[in-house]
Amino acid sequence: MPKILFRSTNNKAELVSFKEALLKGQAPDYGLYMPVKIPKLSKGIINSMKDMNYDEIAFTVMKEFLKGEIPDDEFKSIVKEAYNFNVPLEKVRDKVYIMRLDEGPTAAFKDFAARLMARLMHYFASKENKKLTVLVATSGDTGGAVAAAFYGLKNMEVVVLFPEKEVTGRQRKQMTTLGKNIKALAVKGKFDDCQALVKRAFNDKELSGLNLTSANSINFGRLLPQAVYYFYAYSKLAEANEKIIFSVPSGNFGNLMGVIAREMGLPVEKFIVAVNENSEFPDFLESGSYKPVAPSRKCSSNAMDVGHPSNLARLIDLYGGWLYDERDGSGEVIEQGVLKKKPDMKKLRQDFVSVSISNEEANETIKNTYEKYKLLLEPHGAVGFAALEKAKISKDELVVCLETADPAKFPDEIKKVLNIEPKVPKSLAGLDSKEEKFEVISNSYEEFKKKIKNKD
Ligand SMILES: *Cc1c(COP(=O)(O)O)cnc(C)c1O
Repeated sequence: MPKILFRSTNNKAELVSFKEALLKGQAPDYGLYMPVKIPKLSKGIINSMKDMNYDEIAFTVMKEFLKGEIPDDEFKSIVKEAYNFNVPLEKVRDKVYIMRLDEGPTAAFKDFAARLMARLMHYFASKENKKLTVLVATSGDTGGAVAAAFYGLKNMEVVVLFPEKEVTGRQRKQMTTLGKNIKALAVKGKFDDCQALVKRAFNDKELSGLNLTSANSINFGRLLPQAVYYFYAYSKLAEANEKIIFSVPSGNFGNLMGVIAREMGLPVEKFIVAVNENSEFPDFLESGSYKPVAPSRKCSSNAMDVGHPSNLARLIDLYGGWLYDERDGSGEVIEQGVLKKKPDMKKLRQDFVSVSISNEEANETIKNTYEKYKLLLEPHGAVGFAALEKAKISKDELVVCLETADPAKFPDEIKKVLNIEPKVPKSLAGLDSKEEKFEVISNSYEEFKKKIKNKD
């Protein structure tokens, strides 16, 4: 059985297997790993998902990428253990649904990827008796999901970097109250700064003894699990031969890599790329020239405050273009987001619509959907729903909006708009009173490096 191989979007790194792509995270040429060829699922298999549970669909989709890497029965039990929570599909109105991806242990969709990735990394590292250090930059929810997923795993150290002033109290507490093998660093800067620090560390030869890997969506292992719920929604909602549209609240464009599901054969008509005031992508679709938003704009949907999405390089690669960051000899970025080769803009515009939603519009949407449909959305899901309303989709189309977090993760925003306290789910109960432990560092690579070298 031939393995699926992965190449770097910068094309200067060797081909690797899924396992290597997972354990390395970022390619040595600073590019992102993409499958050389994306496997296809037959119509028959996709149709048979109608009668499958979530974990069965997850196994069916992901095993295509893991051929020859892990025995089917072991992978099956990993998947079953990872997906032990519900994925509700709620009808809003005729043909329009919300898929709630917020019922995992940290109440955001990052759990889908983090739980599988932690188990796979642990599986491969244990087999080789290797110790891994997982670095993760977070704009809010990834850090908590990764921390929870890796907590207590032997041979795994986790270092989480978050922007000091841009995460909510509950988001921060999910990272800072665990301890043990989880270390939290608050960076005096933005998410893009955290991300840049982490990316630089991967290619720093002086750190190679730490076996660094990434739990950010630069790691292909994060994206694959996120292709699954697109199949799930389709299988439960679509009629025979129907196409589907997804509205995806997007920041770093990891969730948007649902495009992999389409490449695998899922009949997706379009993706609505819903962004907040960080409008680099809709601007790019319109003008054809790419310019990151720097510094990123701070919005109520804080997990989407990304001015230069990592996974845009993958999307552009998939459409025949080349986007990369120009670096000097030491690896420091000199220019972000250089579009060396244009992708097929015509096809890109056919397959994606992108809408930027202001804070005001997001708040209005929270209010309107609550009043009109008794539907409580949090700021990220509201950006997704608002984008759908603005995207002028025909009423006959089947649409699913992803709700990426539980409203209780954003109690201040909800209170401000609706004057109610969102109900705290079991997963967040007790968090507020837990004791925190974290260090604050400046936005300096040298300082960050010292911290990870002297892990205590
Ligand atoms: C991370 C996150 C997003 C954005 O997802 P990307 O994969 O970065 O595009 C949206 N909503 C919530 C709640 C998140 O935590």
